[in-house]
Amino acid sequence: MNPTLTDAFGRGIEYLRLSVTDRCDLRCFYCMPEGFKDFETPAHWLTFDEIERVIGAFGRLGVRRVRITGGEPLVRKGLGELTARLGQLPGIDDLSLSTNAVQLARHARVLRQGGVQRLNVSLDTLDAERFAQITGGGKLHKVIDGLMAAKAEGFFPIKINMVAMKGVNDDEFEAMFEFCRQHGFTLRFIETMPMGSTGRSAQGQYLSLQTVKERLTQRYALVPAVMDGGGPARYMKLADSEMRIGFITPMSQHFCDTCNRVRLSVDGTLYMCLGQEHNYPLRELLRSGISDAELEQHIIKAVNLKPERHEFGDKPEQSIRFMSMTGG
Ligand code: SF4
Repeated sequence: MNPTLTDAFGRGIEYLRLSVTDRCDLRCFYCMPEGFKDFETPAHWLTFDEIERVIGAFGRLGVRRVRITGGEPLVRKGLGELTARLGQLPGIDDLSLSTNAVQLARHARVLRQGGVQRLNVSLDTLDAERFAQITGGGKLHKVIDGLMAAKAEGFFPIKINMVAMKGVNDDEFEAMFEFCRQHGFTLRFIETMPMGSTGRSAQGQYLSLQTVKERLTQRYALVPAVMDGGGPARYMKLADSEMRIGFITPMSQHFCDTCNRVRLSVDGTLYMCLGQEHNYPLRELLRSGISDAELEQHIIKAVNLKPERHEFGDKPEQSIRFMSMTGG
């Protein structure tokens, strides 16, 4: 079914990123400020019924892909029940989850049974000490246990998202490549973005993926490739195997021209762009008793607010939210 939702630039919107919480059990230095406590109050969280209503409306408007994000989605209680309900909705044929995998070993089976097909796992290092430094005390072995549990449950593909950072983990790209090759994971590199104050301060570690792509292409004879998923990654593959490597380059080679997504935050606000503040609050409308037809009209109106592109390069101070507020 072709997307019926198009923005003012003629881009079809077929993908919704759903943030079910702004909380997280890690504190990655480029994401959530140390000691941050100003989380959204639970009374403002969309309930599962409200989330199901909104996703149902997006499904009727041609959105077929839903990625569940956070903060860290696995900290939201009852997530297994929610994924099972979303997996049943007409039109939604691609349900995925982004996670830091710290609690994945415990939840993998119920999520798989609930209809989540594929996973994106954030993992910036295979060194336990460095992992603790990057994440503010996280335990690497829990993430590895989570990945092995997910593999055993048959999630496919499992994509490893590695934020490439100069002087932090740029000596580990080949090791992560080998880890992914060994386990049949897809490796994706992501450039740091000036999301909020934390993202801006992490720009000191910014590393253009154009150099990383050259480095790995020389080492592994990579060739261009494609991969389904609807996201912004540009893929390469090994000439002699199906292993994919993706490059997500918002800074060095943006992909806004083909953007196909909007984001729903935990408090029911639709954000039209990761790098801009254009938004449309839905929670009070939902709680005021609007009909499904009226809800669809509000979504169409909201999508028309979608900006052409981010301005991370020209106006980095403009993006106020840090990553955990709406997820990647
Ligand atoms: S920065 Fe905004 S317009 Fe560009 S790809 Fe991301 S969400 Fe789309």
